[in-house]
Amino acid sequence: MLVSKAFTFDAAHLLPYYDGECRNLHGHTYRLVVTIDAPVQKDGLAMDFAILKRIVKEKVVDRLDHTYLNDLLQNPSAEHVVIWIGNDLKDAVPATLHQVDLAETPSSWVVYRGE
Ligand SMILES: [Zn+2]
Repeated sequence: MLVSKAFTFDAAHLLPYYDGECRNLHGHTYRLVVTIDAPVQKDGLAMDFAILKRIVKEKVVDRLDHTYLNDLLQNPSAEHVVIWIGNDLKDAVPATLHQVDLAETPSSWVVYRGE
């Protein structure tokens, strides 16, 4: 069973190698969706949403919300940020991390599946 939980956080960044306006300092309300893969247990749940929420909030959202992402990553493209999130979460969740989606806008997002 795939189980997902969605979050939002606000952060600023600039892309130093981008040839365009994203080279300038700007911000996004990022939408993060974390999906884990786990079998359905006898209690009917594959993963308690509350546990998944607590882990992602503590490991990712609380660390990135209202920050300047270039302090964390030299080139914080959505791709690099989602890799950082995926690497941070894969050992923290008590199940297989299936996918991490990170959207910079409602129409633009990246999907991490371990690479
Ligand atoms: Zn941006």
